[in-house]
Amino acid sequence: VPGLLDVTVPWQTLTGLSPEPGHLGRIGPIPAPDARHLAGCATHDPATIWRIIITNHAGQALAVTRLPRRASGAGGPPGPVPGTGTGLVGRITVTIPEDILDSTPPPLPGPGSPGILLRALTHAAKALASARATAQADKAAGGCAHLDASSAYQIPPRLRDYLTARDLTCRYTTCRQPAWHCDIDHTTPYDQGGRTCKCNTGGLCRHHHQIKQLPGWHLHQITPGIFQWTTPSGRTYTTTPDTHPL
Ligand SMILES: [Zn+2]
Ligand SMILES: [Zn+2]
Repeated sequence: VPGLLDVTVPWQTLTGLSPEPGHLGRIGPIPAPDARHLAGCATHDPATIWRIIITNHAGQALAVTRLPRRASGAGGPPGPVPGTGTGLVGRITVTIPEDILDSTPPPLPGPGSPGILLRALTHAAKALASARATAQADKAAGGCAHLDASSAYQIPPRLRDYLTARDLTCRYTTCRQPAWHCDIDHTTPYDQGGRTCKCNTGGLCRHHHQIKQLPGWHLHQITPGIFQWTTPSGRTYTTTPDTHPL
């Protein structure tokens, strides 16, 4: 991520509806007012990358989208704002629960909301509609319909984005390595017929990626995002997707 700060903020915190903290990459939680201040800086900074993660009621990622860059300006109100155009916030991730997108009208910070928040809602709604269509197809297929699969070994950026948001951390049971820092592993190896699809890929840190390849270890993806490890002693452990703060 270019820029200094990697900020994550729940929509309810961003809009002042919740006192839940935001999160600074590599640092940890930050108070809601600080998260809103940094979001304000991002609003005025055309260089900031906006990533939106739509979650279910449990906080698990359903879909990820990014706002297309703008040639100039980001739609904020005019006027000097600390951090404007400085690249202070390299990336901002906004997490939005699906029920917020289902409510009409979705809650906004008030009249005169920065245009970028409206754009975020529009893009999030589009991504959610597409994710729901995919979920329908998966259901009809009785598993994964492989709609977003690639025939190549390489993980397409869109799948990598989704897996990073879905897994959040290495898929080993107790490992907290962030997914963005992980290898994307084919659960069933590609050369053994494993697909490049959400049902057969996941984040593994280098250490657990290597452990997976050792004799006696076995990893199985029961359904997309739910992994079952079998150790050489035959014990099994199941990991479920991590959750985003709501
Ligand atoms: Zn699949
Ligand atoms: Zn790990």
